[in-house]
This record gives sequence, C-alpha cells and structure tokens, in this order.
Amino acid sequence: MARLRPFVLLALLALAAVPLALPEPVLELPALAQEAGPTWLQPYRRDAQRLITAATADQFAWNRLAELTDTYGARLTGSDNLTRAIVWAADTMRADGFEGVRTERVMGPKWVRGQERLEIIEPPHHVLPLLGLGGSVATRPEGLEADVMVVSSQDELQRRSAEARGRIVLFDVPYTNYGETVVYRAGGARLAAQHGAVGVLLRSVGPMGLRTPHTGGMQYGDDAPKIPAAAISVEDAQRIHRIIDRGRRVRVRLTMEAHFEPDVESANVIGELTGRERPNEIVLVGCHFDSWDAATGASDDAVGCIVTWESLRLMKALGIRPRRTVRLVLFTNEENGLRGGTAYRDAYVKAAGDHVLAIESDSGVFQPARLAFSGSESARRIIADIGTLLAPIDMQYVGPGGGGADIGPIAEAGRVPMMAYSGDSTKYFTIHHTPADTVERIPTEDVSKAAAALAVMTYVVAEMPERLPR
Ligand SMILES: [Zn+2]
Repeated sequence: MARLRPFVLLALLALAAVPLALPEPVLELPALAQEAGPTWLQPYRRDAQRLITAATADQFAWNRLAELTDTYGARLTGSDNLTRAIVWAADTMRADGFEGVRTERVMGPKWVRGQERLEIIEPPHHVLPLLGLGGSVATRPEGLEADVMVVSSQDELQRRSAEARGRIVLFDVPYTNYGETVVYRAGGARLAAQHGAVGVLLRSVGPMGLRTPHTGGMQYGDDAPKIPAAAISVEDAQRIHRIIDRGRRVRVRLTMEAHFEPDVESANVIGELTGRERPNEIVLVGCHFDSWDAATGASDDAVGCIVTWESLRLMKALGIRPRRTVRLVLFTNEENGLRGGTAYRDAYVKAAGDHVLAIESDSGVFQPARLAFSGSESARRIIADIGTLLAPIDMQYVGPGGGGADIGPIAEAGRVPMMAYSGDSTKYFTIHHTPADTVERIPTEDVSKAAAALAVMTYVVAEMPERLPR
C-alpha cells in the first residue's frame, strides 16, 4: 500500500470539492505508463486509471457497507431485516442513476432459530456459547440431555459406532480448509443419526476465533431421524475432548427451538448500466444479499455486494458507458437455499448465452486478495492481459478457480466464463457465520481495492470490441 498512499492523499484533497463525476483523471498513476503491458489495452488505460483513482480516493464503499450493515443488521431469508434491506438497495440503485432497477420475486425458506442454550451438567455446571445449525430441528421444550461421545473423524465414528446410540456426538474435527471441513457441518447430523445418536455438536468450521461459534447450513437425509445440531467454539470442543480423554464423562443439556415456517417471498435486486452498442450482451456482477442471522454479515457477503455495486456506480459517476450492459445482481437466499441463484437462471435461461462473463464476490476482501478466472484458455489470456491494468494496486495476477454459488446456475446454463474476487481465506473464515462478522474488521483500503479491481475488469470486458470467447 506504500505506493498508493501519496496519490490517495492528493486525490482526497482534490475530491473534497467535487465528490462525484470527475471530468478528468485526478492524477496520473506512474505504474500505468502508456507503454507498459499489451498494446491492445491502449484504448482502455485512461478510463481504467480513472476508475482506480476514483475507487481509492475515498472510503465511499466502506461507508455504504457500514450504512447497510448498521441499519439492517442480520439478513436471513424470511427476516424483516432482509426485506427492508432489499427495498433500500433498490432505492439506492435508483438514486445512483442505474437503469432497469427492479426486484424479482423469489420464494425462499424461512428458518427461525428461536431460543437456544447449551449447558454442561457434568462435570459441574458450565454454560457454553452455541449456534444451532441452519436447518436444524428443535429439541423437546425441556431440552435434550445426554452423554457426549467425541470423535475426530467420520472414520472414528464408524469404528466406534456401537458407542453412539443415545449419545450426543461431538465432531471435534480440526479445521484444514473450508471445503474439507464443512462436510461435517453439512452432513454430520445425518451421519451421527445413522449410528443412533440423539443430537450433534460440531466444532465450528474455521480457524480459532475468540470462542465464537459459527453457524451455517446443514441437511438431513431420509435414511436417518432428524436430530438437533449445533456448533460450539473450537475452544469448547477441545475442552470437552480433553475432559473425556482424561476418562471423565461429559453430560450436556441442549435446548433449541429451531424450526421452519412456510416459505416466504424474497427478491433478487437488479440494476444495470445499459450497453451503448450491444445492450443484449451482459457482463454480470454480483454477490448474495442475505446473511446468517447471528451477525451483520459484513464480510459474508455485504461487502461483496458493495464492491460489485461500485463497478456500476463508479462508471456512472465518471460518465463511462461501456459497449455491453453491465448488470448487478444482489442474489437472495444463498446461505440456506440458493433460491436466488436458481431463480435468476430460470428467469434468464433463454439469455444465458448472452452472458459474456459472470463475476461474483463472496469470499471477502481481506488482503492479500486476488481475482480468479474459470474459462477457456483463449479467454484466460485476455483476462490475464486486463489484469496488468491492476498493477498500481498490486492485483495484476489472476489465478485459476473463478466462480460463485449464485452465478453458478446461469453460468452452467450458458457455459459462461466466471470470475471471483477472493480475500484472504484465514481472515475470512475466522469470522464467517459468526457474531463477529462485522464491518469494523474490514479495512477501508481492502474495500476500495476490491472495488477498483472489479470496476476495471468489468469495464474492459464490457467495452472491448470482441466478446470474451467461451
Ligand atoms: Zn457468502
């Protein structure tokens, strides 16, 4: 960031008088010398530079992220918070001057946590912080009391299957990475029930936090009873494990009121900058607007919404209207249903082939971050070239593995190349789905940098004469 700081200061001074619609770049960025990088990018350098300058000149995006999360808080599907936030988003897009602003109805599940409590009743009494897993059933009103059986893996449960009957199984599975460890959150209750367990506790999926439980989605199977499932902190899982290893019994009482109510109406929020020459060709940028109920979902995924939103807002503010349409979609219900992503696919399946590129930001923005791309080799070369425009903010490298849960369905329908903006995964998964997922933990510079990178990438792909190859 050392390279960025002097110009940010100057730009801030320059912007104080004219916060919007700069007619000219505020400053020349030394790293964007005209001769650097591939020559085909020459026509885009000036506007790329203006986008980076505007994105990093102030903390507009962070302020908007704070406004969203402070005002509307947690935004689980079916909550009044999410419904109100959707209205705010559409109104704010209109105020930003976007075109085609609309909410598109999506029916979504309504899961309600209710009260929940976990106590160790032997050895002597401790109350533990917990978060029921999204989709879990309730216990009986008086609670579920049982001895804990602790295992470190599915294999261990299999080997000691006979001991599971009538117990609450605690999966104390060390975190390796999200993809590997999350299978215990998603399927642990089903697995334990297959061995006769009456409840499940899960060591939260993530690195050690500050004794913070992480919630998240889970599924039952038809082949086993539905048993209550909740996450506890890494620290408490290890503590119970240690007590049991010393040969002592651990007995707990778990009380949960979790339940589903009938499906409710939610919506995807869409806003556009209509393409000046090829309005039917779409560069899709997006995020998911819902969050879990335990926190404000600032990192997962309000920030993804704000930084992709910035692509359009910055272009609009700078008077840049690309050849193709840039479409922002704030998807609903990613966390516990993916109904927003599938509803978008269903609504636009005939136009799936007109989607030139789909970009999702749903892995936070913590530095060090990077862009990732999935598509053909010819497309990847073009994206890598565009990446050179991001050298001034050290974001030039575009890695493999682009994609996102919400853009997945439309991308599959239209064989659409995909990109992701991915923040540092250790920082991201430390607060993911916890009460600690709040805006204070997200540095303003990380938000501005993400907005800058996404804006430049979106702009060039929407503007270049040839469409990005399949
Ligand atoms: Zn997310």
